[in-house]
Amino acid sequence: MKITTFNPQIISRNAEPVAELFEELGFERTHRKEGIGEKEVVGIRMKNADGFHLDISQSDMGPQQDMIGIRVNVDNFSEVYEFLKAKGFRNIYGDSFAKTPSSISAMMISPSGYGINLVEHIKQAPKQESSGGLIPSFSVDHTKIVPGIFVSRQDTIKSAVITTYDIRVTKPNDEPAIDVSAMHSLEHIIATYLRNDEKWKDEVIYWGPMGCLTGFYLILKGEREPKQIHELLLAAFRSVADADEVPGATAKNCGNYLLHNLPMAKWYAARFAKYLADNADNENIFVYPRTERLVTEDGQDFYDS
Ligand SMILES: [Zn+2]
Repeated sequence: MKITTFNPQIISRNAEPVAELFEELGFERTHRKEGIGEKEVVGIRMKNADGFHLDISQSDMGPQQDMIGIRVNVDNFSEVYEFLKAKGFRNIYGDSFAKTPSSISAMMISPSGYGINLVEHIKQAPKQESSGGLIPSFSVDHTKIVPGIFVSRQDTIKSAVITTYDIRVTKPNDEPAIDVSAMHSLEHIIATYLRNDEKWKDEVIYWGPMGCLTGFYLILKGEREPKQIHELLLAAFRSVADADEVPGATAKNCGNYLLHNLPMAKWYAARFAKYLADNADNENIFVYPRTERLVTEDGQDFYDS
């Protein structure tokens, strides 16, 4: 672990007067960042002629009273985060972090009340022209993948992160893929479930089947570990058992309304729900087996999504 920045930080619900006061004391603003991650944190960095630094951050989620912390940039966020947690520090954002395309941070409060704003600057991966986004240079080894819930990719749009999950229902190339009519019914029923769930409906961007018929893609706002959506998917697949009909299976609402099979959808859903429940503590259902990305004969990188 290496510390790369170390200076005081003032956390306030109203950063501007604080910044103005330090301007009168000879500090200049070097950096202002608005809307850091989902947390809507405004960050102001200041420096004076002698090289002293001060950070001021403003967050509606912060404490009512201003507080002082130490800003500590490190080269390995997760290592120090776990260290502080083990020492009894708590993250004021709960289990989530403030993220920008170039940094990850969390405000950690010690058991006795002082704060450490833990930050790591993330080196930007090279951008690939075809996508306009950050593309992992590794792909999934489909010969090793087991059914489960995986992060397929994360994309940052302005300061917002969206996550695409691979919800893998059958083991690729090893057991039969999902029957296409059952797949279609599962698409309708689970999309309806997700878009009506009070807690989750505003987080859901997309739910749809994979062309290979071995699973689904779920796109959610924000970034969560696969484990954090385990309960949601368990409930969604269990809900299929209660369906008396496939919602939207009419010529008006669906592009191929005869291509449905509710009993078979129930069979796949029950089997997958049982698998998710039985394997709730099995790390392998949350982490992809990686392999190097395939390159096609004419030199293009291969993407399956
Ligand atoms: Zn349809």
